[in-house]
Amino acid sequence: MCSCPSCYKVASITRACAVVRSRKKSERRGVRVSHPRRLRPVACITSGFFITMKGRLFIPLRRDRYFDVQLNHHALKKLADKKVRSLTITPDSLVFCYSDDIKSIPVARVYGVDRNEKNITFGDKEMVTHVDVKKVVKIRQTTREVIGSFRRNDVRIRRRLARKYWSRANHRTNHILHAATNFIVETAARNGAALAIEDLTGIRKMYRRGNGQGADYRFRLNAWPHWRAKKMLDYKAAWNGVTVIQLTKSETYGSSSTCSACGEKLRAPLRGDVAYARMLWCPGCKAWMDRDAYAALSLSARGRSRFARSLSSRLETGEEESRSQQPTSSSTPIAKEKGLADEAVTGNGTMKTLILRVDASKLTRWREPKS
Ligand SMILES: [Zn+2]
Repeated sequence: MCSCPSCYKVASITRACAVVRSRKKSERRGVRVSHPRRLRPVACITSGFFITMKGRLFIPLRRDRYFDVQLNHHALKKLADKKVRSLTITPDSLVFCYSDDIKSIPVARVYGVDRNEKNITFGDKEMVTHVDVKKVVKIRQTTREVIGSFRRNDVRIRRRLARKYWSRANHRTNHILHAATNFIVETAARNGAALAIEDLTGIRKMYRRGNGQGADYRFRLNAWPHWRAKKMLDYKAAWNGVTVIQLTKSETYGSSSTCSACGEKLRAPLRGDVAYARMLWCPGCKAWMDRDAYAALSLSARGRSRFARSLSSRLETGEEESRSQQPTSSSTPIAKEKGLADEAVTGNGTMKTLILRVDASKLTRWREPKS
């Protein structure tokens, strides 16, 4: 008999089943599946572990043998009076999964969030805030220079050093991004605002080798971690009950070149005009304004219109549902419950989510009107 605790067996069987299931699904749909690869070393167990009163976590090793580790104050504070559903063990982390009821904040206004390599600008007509993230690009440039200066005549050592420097750079940039996104989400939560984020997929294509741009220029514009910042905003907004409006490419078309107030085409200052660098002139409003502020404002306006549209469409479909349910009034409570549950799980099939508004990305995808 194998002495491995049953929780690990269950975990590995579940994982294997999931892999097989998704492969079969892909094959059914006609999507080409790759050869099964080695999975990352991860164990996700739902039983067998426990946390003592003093905050010591016991992870089963063998029958009646445990590995124990003391959790820190932060982890204990977060896990207090929560029911831990599962524990995921990876080579360098322990992940606790718990469910939490998050009250979504009613949307009073919409903040547009414009990301660029110098700052993150967010706000609406009343207030625009720049969060300075210049340092992110600076850190990555310095790291690149440092790595480029290695002269040791052994590629393995050079690579090992480069890995070390890049991981350090990532830690530093993550720290800056966390601080910036925390600030944005906290401000939005305090003011009852939703965040309108633009879709930046494909931005790397603009600065690729062969586009006639210099290597340093391409590096500078590609150094900014757009995707990571967006991810952070997404999940932090979900944790705080802030709504995220994901604008599509067509919705944000020309958001940084047209005025959100009058719709006039904006004009850039003359080349070498230092006084109005990074400013734009609106011929309609007869005013100079910061180009990032313009972008944030127009994203806010577009997000607001999208939000109003999806809200009205949701109300319409809700009315239709209730109308269609009227004939089968014999089973009204069940039908009603069904309707509610259907609403809650749209988009994720059989999974029953207890938390409706936490998965921000799913919610916004669901809201997207089909056209
Ligand atoms: Zn204008």
